[in-house]
Amino acid sequence: MEKLFLVHYGEIGLKRGNRSYFEKKLAQNIKLALKGMGCAEVRRIYGRILVMLHPDADVAAIHEQLRKVMGIAHFELVLAVEQTLDAIQDAALELVKDQQFKTLKVETKRANKRFPLTSPEISARVGATLLGATGASADMHTPDLRCNIEIVDEAAYVYVEKIRGVGGLPVGASGKVLVMLSGGIDSPVAAWRMMKRGVKALFVHFYSYPYTDKASLEKVEELVSILAAWNYRTLIYLVPFAEVQREIVTQTPAPYRVILYRRMMVRIAQQIAAAAKAECLVTGESLGQVASQTLGNLRVIEDVAEIPILRPLIGDDKAEIMDLAEKIRTFEISTLPHDDCCSLFVPDHPTTNASLEAVQEAEAALDVDTLTKLAVESVEKKIIDN
Ligand code: ATP
Ligand code: MG
Repeated sequence: MEKLFLVHYGEIGLKRGNRSYFEKKLAQNIKLALKGMGCAEVRRIYGRILVMLHPDADVAAIHEQLRKVMGIAHFELVLAVEQTLDAIQDAALELVKDQQFKTLKVETKRANKRFPLTSPEISARVGATLLGATGASADMHTPDLRCNIEIVDEAAYVYVEKIRGVGGLPVGASGKVLVMLSGGIDSPVAAWRMMKRGVKALFVHFYSYPYTDKASLEKVEELVSILAAWNYRTLIYLVPFAEVQREIVTQTPAPYRVILYRRMMVRIAQQIAAAAKAECLVTGESLGQVASQTLGNLRVIEDVAEIPILRPLIGDDKAEIMDLAEKIRTFEISTLPHDDCCSLFVPDHPTTNASLEAVQEAEAALDVDTLTKLAVESVEKKIIDN
């Protein structure tokens, strides 16, 4: 009998032509997530992935890590045995002996159709053995304990506890995006939501040193190191934005400042995205949350974008976003005080419905191309490991 983790994925199964690509990506990510924890091998078998363990593996740590791997529907710590009824029964007895239960159900999945008994027959035989040994009774609807058996390829896997995974798709399987990360509550959550749909996230952060201190830099690096638990080795691009802001503040009317900052951020970010082969930009914008996030203003900002800007939080309420930020543990850092570059030199009542023409006219006072080029040239790139 060997103890190992059996991993099940949900949605990947739907991606017919790409199935093998998605499975490979998931297996690779599992390896990355478990490095240094005593995982001996990650092996793909029919519709599942096995995580084999060294004798000294840190089982609890591996359990915690698997809960964070995007693309896993559920997983379980199983006893792997040879494909005979005797061996399966021994494993089942071994597993239930430490459990408290009065009622029981045995469920079997037989992927290997060459095994001589059908799934219901296996469940009935193993069920009878367990009931006889424990004095429990059968309950097909709401049992205290479920004993599961899976007969796959050359082995049988037996387990009593199913652990829910995070779901989604394997990070990296859907391509790359560049997330505009501010240090606030929303953008880390937006990044996480995109990772869950299988994208690898890169990050860009604009900071206004010396107008602000460097607190936002420390915050974004900490946020990225939390997010790297799902995203693995992660790149962040740090962009000095003070010069751009100085030009905007001295050359353009105050009501348009936030929108002009944003348009410059998008121009700079999409050049970084192009160089890094990221296909889209991502922001933490949510409709109506602040003045710059009205439909009209989003349109004026989007006007300079040459690649799509994805806004996974656009329809979420602040409370929903905060809940998720708590769950992924970015909330605490996001709520530490810092001066965001976008709140610098902005009026109390910025325009909520700027016309594109008025913004373009204001922007004509700026040498947009040179400012963009200078900012892109002074980008600092950092790697943050998981
Ligand atoms: P967040 O909580 O993410 O800071 P917010 O509600 O404060 O969002 P805004 O300040 O309007 O909203 O910013 C909207 C989006 O613009 C952010 O979610 C982020 O994607 C991007 N953004 C804002 N400031 C920066 C920055 N300094 N660097 C990179 N991206 C930024
Ligand atoms: Mg913010």
